Amino acid sequence: GFNCGIVGLPNVGKSTLFNALTATVAAQAANYPFCTIEPNTGIVAVPDPRLDKIAAISKSAKIIPTQLEFVDIAGLVRGASKGEGLGNQFLANIRETDAIVHVLRCFEDGDITHVEGSVDPIRDAETVETELMLADMESLEKREVALNKRTRGGDKEAVALLALMGPLLAGLREGIPARRIIRDWDAEAKRNVKLLQLLTSKPVVYVCNVNEEEAATGNALSNAVAERAKAEGAAQVVISAAIEAEVAQLATEVEKQEFLSALGLEETGLARVIRVGYSLLGLLTFFTVGPKEARAWTVRAGAKAPEAAGVIHTDFETGFIRAETIAYDDFIACNGEAGAKEAGKMRLEGKEYPVQDGDIFHFRFNV
Ligand code: GDP
Repeated sequence: GFNCGIVGLPNVGKSTLFNALTATVAAQAANYPFCTIEPNTGIVAVPDPRLDKIAAISKSAKIIPTQLEFVDIAGLVRGASKGEGLGNQFLANIRETDAIVHVLRCFEDGDITHVEGSVDPIRDAETVETELMLADMESLEKREVALNKRTRGGDKEAVALLALMGPLLAGLREGIPARRIIRDWDAEAKRNVKLLQLLTSKPVVYVCNVNEEEAATGNALSNAVAERAKAEGAAQVVISAAIEAEVAQLATEVEKQEFLSALGLEETGLARVIRVGYSLLGLLTFFTVGPKEARAWTVRAGAKAPEAAGVIHTDFETGFIRAETIAYDDFIACNGEAGAKEAGKMRLEGKEYPVQDGDIFHFRFNV
């Protein structure tokens, strides 16, 4: 599966947010018979209104959303790249995530100490980013030695990677995170950067944690973060972790909606964090639908039809024959599968078909 790592300085609201996430997960657990939830890992449903529409049209008995994993990565403090706090463990955990959810304290509360003595999310963002950049520089410098050896043996991949090393190190030394350095690079260079496993090449969403009364509007601090996010092509979401914790305790959807409406909110901050996190990963969603269930699935961008089939079951991939495919818009316009077939909107796609976001598939396969 794909995952987002939750990072941030101590006392910014990470655990509060993560606990709200896992409480929500526990409530949904009936839908996920196969998910084991480790202490610092939660698997959440990704809300998708398209799935609800497909299910309604097809009168599916069950709706199963696709999932995204969140990992609570504790232990970051200034000096982590030098091994302070849980520094090395922290960095190793973050290396394994696909995207970063960076929680920033934007709430004033005299009772809750700030590790840096005052509330300043821009400074905090820079503190965390600096640790990640220092770790990236160190790992590149280490790799450079090994890569140089490999080039002497005529290794082409090593040559390609070494060529990226100079501009990456120069940028990082100027304080530019890798995701900005590589923004205009070509697809091949970007693929190669992935092999270098840099912490600052991962996509980021800044989650601004504000006080309850500011959840609907944000505040001056979260506005400053929004500007920073815009300038660097990152995403930003305003939430109140305190509200999320309260909503997570409510038993029914109706109670939750009433509570949120009273605060001027349409949906939980968690739902927005999940959606933004999912879109950061640049993944594709496809659907399977029938009277028993309507289900959303996730596959990486660029995947071909057999790989999508393999997400459902490995046998579907190895025995893949073809994919009966209806685009989401056609499915809706023709009021479902039967209508789409009649209108000639069901295509038979083969092994080379690149999956499009929203495709509705029936896979045909040999067993
Ligand atoms: P972590 O160290 O980043 O995991 O932070 P925690 O989630 O443990 O939160 C630290 C403290 O801040 C706890 O006492 C929370 O109750 C409190 N807190 C978290 N979010 C908010 C908020 O939006 N407003 C206020 N006033 N307190 C919060």
